[in-house]
Formats: sequence, structure tokens, C-alpha cells
Amino acid sequence: LDLFHFQEEGPGVVFWHAKGWTIFQAVIAYMRRRLAGDYDEVNAPQMLDKSLWETSGHWEWYRENMFAAQSAGDEAEDKRWFTIKPMNCPGHVQLFKHGLKSYRDLPLRLAEFGVVHRYEPSGAMHGLMRVRGFTQDDAHIFCTEDQLADECLKINELILSTYADFGFDGELTVKLSTRPEKRVGSDAAWDHAEAVMADVLKRIAASNNRIKTETNPGEGAFYGPKFEYVLRDAIGRDWQCGTTQVDFNLPERFGAFYIDADGAKKAPVMVHRAICGSIERFIGILIEHFAGNFPLWLAPVQAVVTTITSDGDEYAKEVAAAARRAGLRVEIDLRNEKINYKVREHSLAKIPALLVVGKKEAESRSVSVRRLGSEGQKVMPTDEAIAALAEEAIPPDIKRERSKA
Ligand SMILES: [Zn+2]
Repeated sequence: LDLFHFQEEGPGVVFWHAKGWTIFQAVIAYMRRRLAGDYDEVNAPQMLDKSLWETSGHWEWYRENMFAAQSAGDEAEDKRWFTIKPMNCPGHVQLFKHGLKSYRDLPLRLAEFGVVHRYEPSGAMHGLMRVRGFTQDDAHIFCTEDQLADECLKINELILSTYADFGFDGELTVKLSTRPEKRVGSDAAWDHAEAVMADVLKRIAASNNRIKTETNPGEGAFYGPKFEYVLRDAIGRDWQCGTTQVDFNLPERFGAFYIDADGAKKAPVMVHRAICGSIERFIGILIEHFAGNFPLWLAPVQAVVTTITSDGDEYAKEVAAAARRAGLRVEIDLRNEKINYKVREHSLAKIPALLVVGKKEAESRSVSVRRLGSEGQKVMPTDEAIAALAEEAIPPDIKRERSKA
């Protein structure tokens, strides 16, 4: 499908080809629309001094998974070690800490399409599914304890509707992982967070009959309990994608606080959440789920305009230009090959729509439309065919918003 490749010099990091990057950008654009109004999108640095990761606890707990870098020049005056971020959280705590925060600022939701690097042994890497460098659709919500349940439910709604928009309408499991043996925070704080999340889990289960729930005792992170969202693809495989993690540790470690209504300084609760998880892996799952037959809004090339004989060339160019003006991602194929050969080639490349033109079509300003996976073809006025494709290519979230209006 010509979407991406790997090569030896970059173990576990993706070379995105133009078509793969188009899908990647479509996923990001989708998520960005879904965040608008609720989240502030930010961007924290890629490399930060090791000391920050000592404060966060990563240097102690997570060092085996981290990459570190130093100036390469022998004479460089700044020879400190920097960590290439494996997570976005410490950066977001710095953003929260910048400027005094009041309870009125909460909940504060900071989102980042953050590029992270984590060391994986080479045997653990597996195509797009497990890589060393990836982009998370990450966010951190700083809130009060009272706001925690509502925030978890809001995230849950976002996760469920996102998966449905991407065509995962099968079974879904939400797992609650509770306190592990090695942990930080008081038992009272864990009791409270687990009680809130158990209640949220019940409400999630009651809200939707596609959802199964489970509890994994002892499987939570050392800093707090978490939800894991496991979706089932078209052929019944399960993939863990989204997570919601409650954290009472990191804000305190970094001395982050807000001024409460009574004037006292309080540490906010921090919720880490990702919807797709790793965008790279999510695209890997989409490729499997659709077996390459992407819905029109995600397809990197949505239509190819091609000719029966060369006397259709000029008209084919006009059709392609009109389709581009309508916002479609279009390629043009004027090769002097038999039309059946070209049709077969484009269907192997999983092109969703072929617009075939010849002399007759040029004279009647029409196109012959062939859709991937159906044998027939339909001759239509060109402007009608383009309008129908452009309508079909509207992402599902935009369609939903329009139908509300
Ligand atoms: Zn985080």
C-alpha cells in the first residue's frame, strides 16, 4: 500500500511515505477537532535535563526504557545529559506550574500530540504495533477530587465515540486496574480514587450494552489506578488502545498546586489519558481492521481519474482539477495502457473510487464511476459524481455536528 517502511539504521522508528502520512494527518486532524473547546493544545520540549526525570521518578523507575543524549562535540561547554522524552507528563506539569493557578482554572486540560521515544529490545518490536518512536494523542487533566468522576466519564464518552467513528462498533472491554503492592500515596487516597473509579465503571457498563467491564486487582500504576480500553477489530482480535490513569503522585513531586476557594494551597489530581494511544499503532490496527479498504474520509488517495484512450486526456485533467477543488485527494492516470489493466492495478492499490473517462464522457461531461469491491460501473454527470464523493468523504464527526445544526 506504500504507506511506510522501516530500515536498519532506524530500529523501531517509522519512515512515513506520503500516503501513510496522509492517513496520519487525517487521524490527528480528527482528534484535534474532537478536542476543540475542551482542551488546550500545547507542546513541551523533546529533550529535557535529566534532573527533571529524577524528580518525576522516571530516572529511578523507568530508566531502562529511556534514551538519553548529550552534545556530540568534544569541545561543547554544555555536556549535561538530556533525556529524550518517553512521556509528556513532566513537561505538562511544568506548563501547569507556569503562573499561579486557582480552583477557577480547573479542570485544566492540556493536550499534546507528543512524540515520545522508549527503548524496546529489538525482539519486542513488531512493525507499527510496537515501535521505539511514536506519537501519542496525549492529555493531562488537572482537576480537583470533586471533579474526578465527571472528568473520567467525559473521557469515556470521547473514547467510545472516537472508536465508533473509526468503525470499531464491536465489543469493547474497559478494565479497572487497582493498587499494586509497590505504590506511592496514602491508603486513604487510593481508597477514594478506587471508589470513584469503581462507581464510574458501573456507570460506563450501564450506559452501553456493547461494553464489558473487568477489574484487575494489583495491576494499577505505582502512582494511581487506571482504566484500559480494549477494542475488538473486524476479525475478532483485541487491542488495548485508550487509557485513563489517575495520579496523585506527580503534581506533588513537582510541587504543583492551585489556590483553593478557602485560600489554601492544594495539589491537583492529575489524570493522564490517551484515546488512540500511539497513533502509529492505531494506524496499524486500522490497516488490519479495514484490510486496507479505508473508508473514504481516511483513504490517502480517494479517487483516481483515468482514461480509456488518449483522446480523453484533456477532459481527465479537467475532472481531476474539479475533484481537487471539491477537497478530494485525487490522482490522475493517463498512461497508455488497456483500461482493464489500469482498473485491476488501482483496485489492488485499494483506491476507493475510479473515475473513467473517454471521448464519449468528454462530450457529455460525464464520468464512469467504479467503486472498489463492486463489479459494476455507473455513468454520471461529472459534477454529480464529484459532489457525491465529496459528501461521502466528510469525516464522521463533522457529519454528526452538521446533522445537529
Ligand atoms: Zn502522562
